Amino acid sequence: MTIVPHALGGAAAATLTSNYLLAFLFGFLSHFILDRIPHLEPKFLVKQEEDGTKKWSIWLFVFVAAEFIITIIFFSFFKDRSDFISLLFGIFGGLFPDIVVNNPFLQKFRHKPLIKYFFWFHDKIHLDIPGKYWYISLIGEVIVIGGSIWLLLAK
Ligand SMILES: [Zn+2]
Repeated sequence: MTIVPHALGGAAAATLTSNYLLAFLFGFLSHFILDRIPHLEPKFLVKQEEDGTKKWSIWLFVFVAAEFIITIIFFSFFKDRSDFISLLFGIFGGLFPDIVVNNPFLQKFRHKPLIKYFFWFHDKIHLDIPGKYWYISLIGEVIVIGGSIWLLLAK
């Protein structure tokens, strides 16, 4: 999944604790749960080499920037909450695996000892589906985004 659902999922997971470290950890774990939900990835915006290395197109930079802006605007409404810092740790945890694995500047570490297992695990756990099943992806994203917002507002 992409930035918005992972940020929302991470923040929602962080509402389960007031400990910053746990908030990060819950967000981190939520990432892999969300990636297991069948979904579409904006793959046509990434050029994947045979060894797994990902090259970003200019449109992916635009897409990522737009998603970050949406995320920042959305969470700016939460800035007066007493658990805001905890939510930030959850968001960071929720985004962390993608920040490492999809980072165009970290691709050179893709085959380094030990780190490669993290890349491998994240690439493996993804349950991305062909474009013709976009409606399944849509249902999953609506449940993740809607459910996360509901959890965030219920707190
Ligand atoms: Zn991911």
